[in-house]
Parts: sequence; C-alpha cells; structure tokens
Amino acid sequence: MPLVETEAIVLRTHRLGEADKIASLFTRQLGRVRAVAKGALSRRGRFGAALEPLSYIRLWIYDRENRDLQRVGSAEILESFFEMQKDYRVQLAGQYLAEVTERFLPDREVNERVFRLLLAVLRAIKRFGEVNRPLLFFDYWLLRLGGFLPDLSRCMKCQRQFAEEDGYYDPVAVALVCAQCRSGPAERISAQALGLVPAFRSARIEEWIEDKPAAAGTRELRRLLEQIIEAHLEKKLATRPLLAEEI
Ligand SMILES: [Zn+2]
Repeated sequence: MPLVETEAIVLRTHRLGEADKIASLFTRQLGRVRAVAKGALSRRGRFGAALEPLSYIRLWIYDRENRDLQRVGSAEILESFFEMQKDYRVQLAGQYLAEVTERFLPDREVNERVFRLLLAVLRAIKRFGEVNRPLLFFDYWLLRLGGFLPDLSRCMKCQRQFAEEDGYYDPVAVALVCAQCRSGPAERISAQALGLVPAFRSARIEEWIEDKPAAAGTRELRRLLEQIIEAHLEKKLATRPLLAEEI
C-alpha cells in the first residue's frame, strides 16, 4: 500500500472505539479523504495535537484509492488553529468552514486554490480574531472558484447595474434582480451590502481586513452568499442556523 506524504487541513474528527479517531481531511495531494488514526486517543497519543479540527499538518497516509477509509501513518503539526477556537464564535466559524468544505468538494478531488483559500481564511481569523469578513471572503471565493457566483453587480434579467440601488435575491433562479424585474418571493439586499464586493474582490484577505473595521452590510452580504452556497448544495447546512444566532 503506498504511503503518501501530503499537507492537509483537518476538517473534523470523531472517536472510533476507545483509542482511535476517524479524521476527515482536506489534503493537498489527494483531495478530501477520510482516514482512521489508530491510537490517536490513547494516553501517549501518537499524533499529539496534529489531529485536532482545523490543524494544518504534514501527513503520511496509507492510501488505497478504491477504499473508503484510509489509514494515517503519521502526522505532524505545521500550524495550529486550536487556541483560537476557545472563542465560541470562532469555533462555530470553524465548524462552518469544515462543513462547507466537506460538502462542496467531491471526494478525492484535488483543489489547490480552495486549499490555499481555506488556509488564508483560517490565518485571518487567528490574526484578527474576527469572523465575519473571513467567512464572507471564503464564501465569495468558494462560489467564484466553483463557477457558482451569480452576478452581484447587475440585474440578471435587464442587466441594469445596481450601483446605488438595492437588489433582490431570487431563490429560485439563485440570482439577483432589480426592483422592476423581481417577481415572486425575493429578498431585498441593500445597495450598501452589494457595494462591498469591490473592496475585497481584488485584495488579499489580510490587506482588506487590516485596513479598517468591517463595514455595515458585511453580515448581510455574508448571509446572502451562505444562502447561495446552500442552494447549490441542495441541502441545508447544519451550522448555518448556529451562525445566524451568534455571528
Ligand atoms: Zn432588472
């Protein structure tokens, strides 16, 4: 069985019996895989803190492509995102990132850009202790990289630019329309929220956040993008209602 060395981000873990763990891993070389870590919970745990949720690790994994569950050979930590999760909002944000990444990426599909995105977003949360803008940045780029981002600057039907006016989210079309073109149930999205996009569309995440405090409308835009992600997954996200309460 080939032993593969790769970097990975631990998405989630759960117990398996007395001493073992199953980890959902987003690896750089193999994409998303699940693997069992034997002895991870034993007293002299072989993996230390490497297999904690959101840890960025170097991983040696026994990989057999036709198998559902791989086996972790060893793992060492490159960067921990454990401490920051003592803040409940950060913990929730981390769970959201893990859930969306798991659902969005097919098994075993390598995706270097999403890997780098997730790592950059985790680092921004750690550095700034803020969750709103990092999550917004993640949602926006995940949708855009996946080709699922609707046009946020103009009406899908008449092509009119929103500029200073509000848009309306049509959940059936998964697109934005203007006040004249809307029909049926559509949720208003303020011009203020839609106007935020240019500020981060071409910026690095740290530069964007470092500059100034989060602008009004950040949360509104983030929630719109969460809805769009859910629409594409065709499934409710378990972490979304929790985020809505807390963040
Ligand atoms: Zn229109």
